[in-house]
Amino acid sequence: MSHKFVIVGAGLSGLSNAYFIKHFFPKAQITLIEQSNRVGGMIVSNNRNGFICEEGPRSIRMGKYNRPLYHILNKTKLYKEFVPSIQQPYSYIYWNGKLNSVPLQMNLGTLSQFIKDNGSGDMLKLIKAGANMMLLKPNTDNLGEYLDQVLGKELTEKYAESVFYGIYGESVYNLSKGLCYSKSHMRGYKEQEIQKELSLDKDFEQIRDEKLKGANSYRFKDGVESLPKRLHTYLQETYSGEYEVRLNSKAKRIEMKTKELIVENRDQQEEQRLNYDYLILNAPTHQLSQIMTNSNLNKIGDVFRGIKCNSLVTRNICWDQKILPQKFKGFGYLINPKQEQVILGMVADSLSFPSQYPENATNLSIMSIYDVNDHVILNELSKHLGVQIPEPKEIITKSWSKAFTRFSPGHYEDMLNIESELNGKNIIIGANNYTLAIPELVFLSYSKIKQLYL
Ligand SMILES: Cc1cc2nc3c(=O)[nH]c(=O)nc-3n(C[C@H](O)[C@H](O)[C@H](O)COP(=O)(O)OP(=O)(O)OC[C@H]3O[C@@H](n4cnc5c(N)ncnc54)[C@H](O)[C@@H]3O)c2cc1C
Repeated sequence: MSHKFVIVGAGLSGLSNAYFIKHFFPKAQITLIEQSNRVGGMIVSNNRNGFICEEGPRSIRMGKYNRPLYHILNKTKLYKEFVPSIQQPYSYIYWNGKLNSVPLQMNLGTLSQFIKDNGSGDMLKLIKAGANMMLLKPNTDNLGEYLDQVLGKELTEKYAESVFYGIYGESVYNLSKGLCYSKSHMRGYKEQEIQKELSLDKDFEQIRDEKLKGANSYRFKDGVESLPKRLHTYLQETYSGEYEVRLNSKAKRIEMKTKELIVENRDQQEEQRLNYDYLILNAPTHQLSQIMTNSNLNKIGDVFRGIKCNSLVTRNICWDQKILPQKFKGFGYLINPKQEQVILGMVADSLSFPSQYPENATNLSIMSIYDVNDHVILNELSKHLGVQIPEPKEIITKSWSKAFTRFSPGHYEDMLNIESELNGKNIIIGANNYTLAIPELVFLSYSKIKQLYL
């Protein structure tokens, strides 16, 4: 049977929705509505004089939720362009005015460096906390309260705050344990079941095992943006006439009775009506709140309006020379909010992916919550690294205003309630309301389409 699917948002969520729709519903007709003039959403890679600058996500983490994403990489042949990360021994946290190492590889050297930087007391407390995590089962969705109970206030303040603040730009006391730590949204991930459904070619497995062995993340030859671009081209070439992307088109409201999405085209300045059997909404929270309210779904609009969003500023900074101190052997560093710095964290791209930059060059990505002058960032960087930072060759700044849904305690339950209300209306809420991480996002796209199929 042929179904009409309309998808709002041609970022990675929308494109992977389209991919799995064709997997489960081969006769489906798909229309993607995208307000901007390109596909890819937050994923933006630019080659600036031989520097691969990732303005959005800088790499894809390896982990246990990869299968649906691997299926896409297999079919699009993008695995032939894998660039694995060179795993660094440490990450660092900035605490009490200096960078302290946290081992990413566990061996005698990294553990003794940890003790040197943080003291043997912290080591013993962390070992004890590990046992606590297995034994204690605190009943709270507040991540900070949970960590206070299993780690104790001291370790939570020093380590957990640094890590989660760096990732979510938010204190652990404002975050949901279910979404940010124990990953309630990934409960449906059953590797063996998915393996049967999404088989991989031998060639893919061989190249993946060879190239990604020992890496903890990867990119592609021309950057992460190859993923949405290549997926879009694959869908166009494989399903011509059944897959269409309408750029410069903004979803405004839904007519429930007639199952129509009302779209405004920026070029033609006129409204279009699109019939759907199923509608999938991958827009960010503030857009969803607008669309729901315009469609007389005020209660749902209000829930979305109540969800806070965080903003971020990213800077890609390029130097023609090595600028990191010799002893810095880290993926990057994160800053504890108690340290009251503008910088939220730094990722040392050219250490993890040296082949994507000119020889002896440095590329760092610096994140901050609000924007300031470049020199404020460079001064802080000099202070954190303990070296005088030379004038960079180029700085590329990008502002991500209200781009990140804040996963507050109770968020998962709110989303489940909204989904069950929309269920009878054939409207599906996008994966980006549950996670930021690319492999999880692709798995959730797959799992939502599979639920429709079943
Ligand atoms: C700075 C930064 C660093 C990151 N780092 C990592 C990382 O290292 N690893 C990782 O796994 N993930 C990372 N992420 C997260 C990851 O990039 C995102 O989770 C993912 O790209 C989101 O994809 P999406 O399709 O859900 O949303 P988006 O990419 O935001 O796509 C949504 C699309 O919907 C369109 N849209 C919105 N409203 C409407 C409307 N009303 N009508 C029509 N179209 C609309 C938008 O224009 C957009 O194209 C990072 C993100 C950022 C910004």
